[in-house]
Amino acid sequence: MTNLINKSAIKDRVLNSIREVPDFPKPGINFKDITPILQDIELFNDVTNYFIHEISELELDAVIGIESRGFIFGMPLASQIKKSFVPVRKPGKLPAATIKETYILEYGEDSLEIHEDAFKNGSKNILIVDDLLATGGTALATYNLVKKLGAENVTLITLIELSFLGARTKLEDNGLNVKSMISY
Ligand code: AMP
Repeated sequence: MTNLINKSAIKDRVLNSIREVPDFPKPGINFKDITPILQDIELFNDVTNYFIHEISELELDAVIGIESRGFIFGMPLASQIKKSFVPVRKPGKLPAATIKETYILEYGEDSLEIHEDAFKNGSKNILIVDDLLATGGTALATYNLVKKLGAENVTLITLIELSFLGARTKLEDNGLNVKSMISY
């Protein structure tokens, strides 16, 4: 069924649905708001099918969602392909024992955490899901977390890639496979 999707039509609809919000959350950031896609549930379901088509060649053990928009796109995807879903969250949100990865932002630093028993069944082949790839700091920190838990083959899929920021090369040089639907 996933072979029958019209990928370029879905891309066009997504492109037309992304709302640009200038100077949010701070001056100079052109925020790509994906909430209109969530309001159009047929489009949202088509996005999930598009992602499933994109990853159909991968043998996956688990799907990781990055807080918080990675949860929105990651969970239905994991459910459809019948793989476990693992949240990666901001510090202090996950209740049980965690491991942490700290990364540098433009100003200061931030951290992400994962439950240390997230791959109880020894998952090696991992898909990371987020809405948008910008500088790649968030994706790289998540990649480092899953590697610490034993992941070997890791792919990132995002709806949007800000390719002018050059994250893809940095991530691929580190061994992370990168896929995105729409590139700016
Ligand atoms: P980065 O670590 O720079 O790749 O930033 C990626 C994270 O920040 C993702 O979780 C995005 O949801 C969010 N983000 C960064 N830039 C934007 C943007 N222009 N519009 C919407 N979300 C963004």
